[in-house]
Amino acid sequence: MNKPVIIGSGLAGLTAAWALSPADCVLVTPGTLTDNAASMWAQGGIAAALADDDTPELHAADTVRAGAFVGDTRTIRRITEAATDVVGLLAELGVPFDHTADGRLDLALEGGHSRSRVAHAGDSSGAAITRTMAAAVRGLPSVQALERHTARRLLTDSDGAICGVEVLDASGAVLVLETDAVVLATGGMGALWPCTTNPATALGQGVAMAARVGARTDDLHLVQFHPTALDVPAFPNPLLTEALRGAGAILTADGERFVHELQPRDVVAAAVWEQLRAGRQVRLDCREISSVVTRFAAVAELCGAHGFDLASDLLPVRPALHYAMGGVTVDAQARTSVPGLWAVGEVSRTGLHGANRLASNSLLEAVVTGRAAADSIRGADTRWTPRVLPVDPATVVPPSAGAAVDLGEVRTILGASCGVLRDGESLEGAVDRLAELRHDDAGYVAWLVARSALLHPHTVGAHRRIDEQLETAAAQEVPA
Ligand SMILES: Cc1cc2nc3c(=O)[nH]c(=O)nc-3n(C[C@H](O)[C@H](O)[C@H](O)COP(=O)(O)OP(=O)(O)OC[C@H]3O[C@@H](n4cnc5c(N)ncnc54)[C@H](O)[C@@H]3O)c2cc1C
Repeated sequence: MNKPVIIGSGLAGLTAAWALSPADCVLVTPGTLTDNAASMWAQGGIAAALADDDTPELHAADTVRAGAFVGDTRTIRRITEAATDVVGLLAELGVPFDHTADGRLDLALEGGHSRSRVAHAGDSSGAAITRTMAAAVRGLPSVQALERHTARRLLTDSDGAICGVEVLDASGAVLVLETDAVVLATGGMGALWPCTTNPATALGQGVAMAARVGARTDDLHLVQFHPTALDVPAFPNPLLTEALRGAGAILTADGERFVHELQPRDVVAAAVWEQLRAGRQVRLDCREISSVVTRFAAVAELCGAHGFDLASDLLPVRPALHYAMGGVTVDAQARTSVPGLWAVGEVSRTGLHGANRLASNSLLEAVVTGRAAADSIRGADTRWTPRVLPVDPATVVPPSAGAAVDLGEVRTILGASCGVLRDGESLEGAVDRLAELRHDDAGYVAWLVARSALLHPHTVGAHRRIDEQLETAAAQEVPA
């Protein structure tokens, strides 16, 4: 086997590179190791059943419930069982998790969790974890980091198995890395929407690359809107972590409380959206949280940059696209339906999140899938028989030439058709228009998302079809 190529250096890609060691690998990333990674932006932390009153079974049950009971129970059990070990590993590598006065890990409460179980490093947990993993990777002679390189195409042989990756260097020159093992770790796709908490580079390119070579994708319509992004004219929107609500922040609309703040995100996001649609002013009130500015220093700084004081102001909030539950379908070893292609972290669809991710489960998933891919690659036969279900051939659109797509148009279409609330008519229009943009990776991924949303007429978790609700309401009317 040639050196495996890992595409992306967020927590999932870094973990895969670290876990592969001492086996060699190439790590391709558009910036330096930690640039442009959502992993760096995570505020809340990483979930694990570490408290005395907690168990992996309770963590799993909360994950199932938050995911609207459509998650993959075997995956959920496997990943929640691994969680305490993952936090132990990160602590061993040097992540400075917060501790209580008596020396125990300080565990925060977040929405949808029945126990306090989020290990954190202040409110910059993602940066602390990702920097620690990046430092560990930098010290490894086995990792050849190709910084300032961007992958643009996967190459397959006549059997449909991976045989290389086409990469652009900083000058725009194309190089081909020959390999029969590629790990996609390209993160999410939030920047395809007009309001997002994701890095502006999170355009779902990994999904496009994989789907173009025939990889199965699932649940692309299942995207999570975070209910409390700061509502300011910025792209992306600054995030006000859920841990604020866990610490006692409340949501008000025109001064009245309207929702239980610690319900799962899909419920709170839909409630906030309804209030905004009704023309009310939705605010996050953190004034009752003691020492809020020291406990949430990074959030306080973000607020300050937009002219708000976290300790005394009522903060305008709105839902913003935060996380993709769907993605490239993988098995327990992070293998996709294309021989030689693994997918890890947010670009993958493991089934952990069901129809709505439980807060702080994705850093966990990034580490677990990164390690699973490394274990699988070591000594693996890259010409496996896919274990995931067959691919719908209609979703496989090979690359073709075409004019550059206006990202603004893609965002407007997805914002209007695949927002917090969806309906069949706008989805049909979106699918038709986006089909014309599929030569471009952003247009292609947006089309896959809208198509998936159109093909799922029933409301589940974060996928809320208002046309179904209207039909149901009409069907329930009692005739006179
Ligand atoms: C503001 C914010 C707060 C969050 N808070 C939490 C939290 O508290 N807890 C939690 O569990 N989750 C949280 N999440 C979600 C979590 O951060 C992500 O799901 C997770 O970090 C994804 O990790 P990843 O490695 O898969 O992707 P990323 O960290 O996004 O890394 C993707 C990498 O791929 C690279 N890349 C992309 N395209 C290409 C290409 N074509 N070629 C080469 N490289 C490419 C990127 O540059 C980057 O290096 C949060 C997300 C956001 C945005």
